[in-house]
Amino acid sequence: MEYNDTVESGLVIPLIAGWVGGWIVNYLADVLPHTRRFSRPTCPHCNTIYSWQDYLLFRACRSCGNRRTIRTWVVQLFLAAFSVYIWISPPAHLGFALGLILLLYFTMDFVIDLEHRLILHTTSIFGAFLGLGVGFLRQGLSSTLIGGAVGFGMVFLFYLFGVLFTKIRARRLQSAGLEADDEEAFGAGDVILATIIGFILGWPLTWFGILFGVLLGGVISVLIMLILFLSRRFQSWMVFIPFGPFFITSAFLIVYLPQLVKFLVPK
Ligand SMILES: [Zn+2]
Repeated sequence: MEYNDTVESGLVIPLIAGWVGGWIVNYLADVLPHTRRFSRPTCPHCNTIYSWQDYLLFRACRSCGNRRTIRTWVVQLFLAAFSVYIWISPPAHLGFALGLILLLYFTMDFVIDLEHRLILHTTSIFGAFLGLGVGFLRQGLSSTLIGGAVGFGMVFLFYLFGVLFTKIRARRLQSAGLEADDEEAFGAGDVILATIIGFILGWPLTWFGILFGVLLGGVISVLIMLILFLSRRFQSWMVFIPFGPFFITSAFLIVYLPQLVKFLVPK
């Protein structure tokens, strides 16, 4: 009885920490892609500046009446719930606090990349330091540094293939009399993100983490193309795949839910 009481009242701490984390992630994802600094959040529809009170209470915009995005709520609920999970079952070698900070970083990068196809330099610098620290605690310095180098090397190779592919595609489009675009399968931001994830996972887990991310991205894109094809909204065989969110999902699963991916990891 006494034990249950302690457990239940103890869950208030991770719930509040996760909720505050949700505020931070939503705020950063709302302002950083637009102003690149810690500016005041504005309504995405009419650019009116929110009062802090309205913003933190998720009120609709006073000027145009538009409500806050679904993403805002998904982030709040996901982080509050997952914070409780980390409290009960903290990731190996990291503990609750660092486990939650890493989760906030993953969530923020995931949301910004998904919404803007953007890996920001400011968040990458933070991520690099965080990744080095997390990697050092998880697997020691040398494995962390090799992991970073391997993550960089792997996605840089993909990136070069992507550049080549884009050139060939542009030539085809031109010869077909269509306007060329410069969509790249892998962007430079993905290379930086893969380096950070390499730090976090270390050698030899990095190569599995990156390949698993590419595989996830491939499978989901095929599914999306199939849905578009079946609903006759399909226009082009080349659909841009933002790989960043899939790299993050892969690293997230390996760090927080290793039992889910354990059977995939080669011994
Ligand atoms: Zn508005």
